[in-house]
Amino acid sequence: MTDPLRVAVVGSGPAGFYAADALLKSEEPPVEVDLIDRLPTPWGLVRLGVAPDHENIKAVSRAFEKTAARPGFRFFGNVEAGSSVSHEELLELYDAVVYTVGAQTDRSLGVPGEDLPGSWPATAFVAWYNGHPDFQEHAFDLDTKRVVVVGNGNVAIDCVRMLALTAEELAPTDTVDDAIDAIVKSPLEEIVMLGRRGPVQAAFTPPELQELGELAGADVIVDPADLELDPASKNALEQDRERAKRNFEILREYAAKEPEGKPRRIVLRFLTSPLAILGEGKVEAIEIVKNELVEEDGRIVARPTGETETLECGLVLRSVGYRGVPLPGLPFDERACVIPNDKGRVTGAERTYCAGWIKRGPSGVIGTNKKDAVETVEQLLADAAAGKLVRQGGGGSLEELLREKGVDFVEYEGWQAIDAAERAAGEPRGRPRVKLTAWDKLLETGRKLTSTS
Ligand SMILES: Cc1cc2nc3c(=O)[nH]c(=O)nc-3n(C[C@H](O)[C@H](O)[C@H](O)COP(=O)(O)OP(=O)(O)OC[C@H]3O[C@@H](n4cnc5c(N)ncnc54)[C@H](O)[C@@H]3O)c2cc1C
Repeated sequence: MTDPLRVAVVGSGPAGFYAADALLKSEEPPVEVDLIDRLPTPWGLVRLGVAPDHENIKAVSRAFEKTAARPGFRFFGNVEAGSSVSHEELLELYDAVVYTVGAQTDRSLGVPGEDLPGSWPATAFVAWYNGHPDFQEHAFDLDTKRVVVVGNGNVAIDCVRMLALTAEELAPTDTVDDAIDAIVKSPLEEIVMLGRRGPVQAAFTPPELQELGELAGADVIVDPADLELDPASKNALEQDRERAKRNFEILREYAAKEPEGKPRRIVLRFLTSPLAILGEGKVEAIEIVKNELVEEDGRIVARPTGETETLECGLVLRSVGYRGVPLPGLPFDERACVIPNDKGRVTGAERTYCAGWIKRGPSGVIGTNKKDAVETVEQLLADAAAGKLVRQGGGGSLEELLREKGVDFVEYEGWQAIDAAERAAGEPRGRPRVKLTAWDKLLETGRKLTSTS
């Protein structure tokens, strides 16, 4: 039997786990995988992005646990590619390196006032309520009657829904306590979601839209006038096979429904863009403009009409997309914000591959990353078969290198200790887990078991 191929996978979100799984299933050559993450915890956005009240979706982590149990798998948490270990060092230690680092930041709106305190990217808000250790010091001031969420995708809907959940709805989730407190105690009355284009062009999906109408503590308000379609949208709706049609039906139901007088209102507005975020030293209002839709080069685009309005609000969440960031030593496509690649083979970089959001941009559901990672692994294994994965370095191991550098890495057993501690803390409170959210606590818990194993 041939020597095992040694592969480093950088980033332990869905793409990283699906890539690891496809690699570990290879029999000829057999493959050993070291899965590296900058956080002490694995699972990427499944732990720190997917909304805490969507526990059934977070349950995909059970499949990741099965991958981690395969022979040849190792996890190295608290190891950041680009700082703890460089790309060149990884190439010396491994036959191939696969980057699955996701999209680590947000796209900006490009309007004045965007940086005022109280104007936040959705990325930060989501990371905060999910317990990301880098975002716990962020002070989300929910002492306001109105929040405006800019964006019309599922992440925007997640933010809207989380703000509307009642204490009873939040109680059985793993939302961090500070966020539960802030949401429940907030005097919030209205959450406005702004869509630049019309209801037919909205990116959210029907189940997520439907869920808003099922909340115990919030009415959903849609202005029937927003559902009067221009000819291009009417045509697009007729051509649509599913999503837009179903979305439109749900929106019609909302528009026809009398509000029940629940404590909070979710107002879905379309054909509206922010012009400026206003306030003295903090967000106090948002200036918005009404748009109309026009066809340009076969696309339906929003054009401002000049009709403006100012909405008072204390918090603005900008949810207009996630964005990949460059990694030291690797090529980067500045326009698409991805690593340039051909089916996962990184352009102009030997023995280097990518998968997931950093390969194709932030789109698709968790399962989309599986097909995507399998495609990448197929290229990698084809290159191995063609004799192209020849390591230059003199061997050595990642753990030796990290120890030399004083990097306090967390192994899989360490993560299992964190997991067990979180689940144990959740159990008496009827919650799936109470997350450890501080770096020192995570490292301390992750280290305890690692050092005795
Ligand atoms: C708010 C939100 C909610 C979502 N909800 C759903 C949902 O309900 N259902 C659904 O199907 N999909 C959902 N998605 C989409 C889904 O989460 C993504 O498709 C998926 O997580 C992308 O996988 P990835 O592995 O490419 O990236 P990620 O999940 O982001 O994983 C990237 C990993 O790389 C690590 N990393 C980054 N940089 C480095 C570095 N330099 N060194 C080492 N490690 C690094 C990160 O810590 C992270 O663990 C949601 C996405 C978001 C943002």
